[in-house]
Amino acid sequence: HAGNGLPPGGGPRMGEVAVVGAGLTGCLLACFLARRGYQVTLYERRPDPRGRPPERGRSINLALSERGLDALRRIGLDGQVMAGALPMRGRMVHPVRGTPGFQPYSTHGDRAINSIGRGALNDALLAAATGRPGVRAVFGHRLTGLDPASGTMTFQTEDGEVKASAPVVLGADGAGSAVRGRLLAYGTLTETVDLLDHGYKELTIPPHDGDFALDPGALHIWPRGTSMMIALPNPDRSFTCTLFWPADGPGGFASLDAPEAVERHFRAEYPDVMPLAPGLVEDYLRNPVGTLGTVRCASWHAEGRVGLIGDAAHAIVPFYGQGANCAFEDVVELDRCLDAAGDDWAEALPLFEARRRDDTEAIARMALANFVEMRDKVASPVFRLGKSVEHA
Ligand code: FAD
Repeated sequence: HAGNGLPPGGGPRMGEVAVVGAGLTGCLLACFLARRGYQVTLYERRPDPRGRPPERGRSINLALSERGLDALRRIGLDGQVMAGALPMRGRMVHPVRGTPGFQPYSTHGDRAINSIGRGALNDALLAAATGRPGVRAVFGHRLTGLDPASGTMTFQTEDGEVKASAPVVLGADGAGSAVRGRLLAYGTLTETVDLLDHGYKELTIPPHDGDFALDPGALHIWPRGTSMMIALPNPDRSFTCTLFWPADGPGGFASLDAPEAVERHFRAEYPDVMPLAPGLVEDYLRNPVGTLGTVRCASWHAEGRVGLIGDAAHAIVPFYGQGANCAFEDVVELDRCLDAAGDDWAEALPLFEARRRDDTEAIARMALANFVEMRDKVASPVFRLGKSVEHA
């Protein structure tokens, strides 16, 4: 056997796995590994997120599509998650002047992508993971060191530095992955991180007279060329808007630094939004600008015992609405690779990378291409007559 201390063959009690990051990928992965019989410890740098409001301006609502739902279905979580989701059957394109136009995602208007809050989804996955035998979550543990040869991890905690080790360590710690950073330092990984000039800022359209202020059955888009805003509905009948604009320099977020300038800009560019969003100016001035980028790296594994998964391996820009969906697909594929390799991690981890690399590179390119489509082409009359391909 690979010598990583794990029994082959998927017996009822498998070895231990440390999953770094209790985000969407880490929690779903823990569910799948627990089902295989592994003892899983989730190490998360944040405090337990359940019941806490999201960080201001970082709530993020996701479009969950069939790829992600398929993964949830396999462990019986689709019903619970979909209960809090709102189906969006097409995009509603808002011109500067004139009536918004609806473009259905499917010919008969019967297929949808689903708006869901990232926090709510994370809470549901975390509860599902920790509710399974063999899974525990440790919060307030930020990974700062890793020796891939021995599986020894170092964490920064409130009480100082803590060490732990596991036969298998999986980095599900997101786009800025510390596990990826340790593999880079170890010399088994190379990476490129392409940051987009555009950043994003969240704004809110609250309920209007207790109801949705816009059609909740659509993903709303305000294509404006260099900038673009989208809005997705929430179960509390508000909409979370995400404005994409160059992060620095003139003609971007930094160009609006006073309340009057923000109001003037939105009245000119997004005139139908202003009356629906009384707190917009305050939101704009207080909420942070998030960065967006594409992470490409290889190898995703080292020493037959350390691996990367989800955004940690292949973060993408959000314009195709596929980052989390793609990460969920990763989890299903890793599970299949463990089947194929009889739970030999030294075999399963390279197999996983070989099977996922082309697909994740393709979605990274498509996500960048869809930015041009969403901010520009959806508004063109030719496109409106043609076929829409978003969020497959
Ligand atoms: P993350 O969600 O980043 O989770 C990583 C976890 O690891 C976090 O809990 C973090 O606290 C923890 N962590 C980080 N570092 C450490 C450390 N050193 N030690 C311990 N723990 C650590 N995807 C879609 O599918 N559809 C969409 O519509 C969509 N829209 C998006 C819109 C925006 C504006 C953005 C920014 C993203 C969007 N995404 C979308 C992408 C989606 O959010 C990500 O792909 C998804 O969150 C990736 O999950 P993850 O668990 O791999 O990483």
